[in-house]
Amino acid sequence: MRIAIDTHTHSVASGHAYSTVDELARGVRSRGLEGFVLTDHGPALPGGAHPYHFGNLRILPRVLEGVRFYRGIEANILDPQGRIDLEPYWVGYLDFVLAGFHEACFSPRDRAANTEALLAALENPLVDAISHPGNPAFPIDIPAVVDRAAALGKALEVNDSSFRVRKGSTDNCRVLARACAERGCPVVCGSDAHYWTDAGRLDTAIETLLAAGIPEDRVVNARTDRFEDFTARRRAEKGFSKAS
Ligand SMILES: [Zn+2]
Ligand SMILES: [Zn+2]
Repeated sequence: MRIAIDTHTHSVASGHAYSTVDELARGVRSRGLEGFVLTDHGPALPGGAHPYHFGNLRILPRVLEGVRFYRGIEANILDPQGRIDLEPYWVGYLDFVLAGFHEACFSPRDRAANTEALLAALENPLVDAISHPGNPAFPIDIPAVVDRAAALGKALEVNDSSFRVRKGSTDNCRVLARACAERGCPVVCGSDAHYWTDAGRLDTAIETLLAAGIPEDRVVNARTDRFEDFTARRRAEKGFSKAS
């Protein structure tokens, strides 16, 4: 399986990542992908990007260093109601909204409370996909989350960095991927690169998708046209016009 678009990358604008957007583009190109989404951390994370960062992404060309460039965020889930740290006005400038748990913005709770917040985030109309739902620091009811994402047509991420940096993720990610395969849930596959050499690095995530039996047509970012159809549908569902 090939992935066309890396849906999870961080630049210097995240506060704890070390490459520019052009460097990320070159990294993605060198790994043979067709494009990437810049998903810098939302404003609530210490050092995260200011809302103006997300509004101003529109000045960047749609093609950088020969690959497609998409405007995104990795927003923070803030509370049990599933609210995120970017107002709808700014989300209107974006193609793709990942949202996930980060300790600095949402203290890990028990499985029931984490699940409630994650289900609420899936119901949040601004959210398109959930980043690293397999993170063992935030135990969740995986079948319940997968069922809700499938019902809403939102995607769950298999995150390549998790296998290296989020200890204990491997088993969770395998269980999650199998549940997505069984329940027909859309998935995205992201590198979560914080440095350009990891941009487009998806080998372990792809292995996990294949081992779980996820068909290629369930992988939202396996093809550029499929990813663009997904973002266009989601923007319409949010009530935004087609992205320029
Ligand atoms: Zn980060
Ligand atoms: Zn994250």
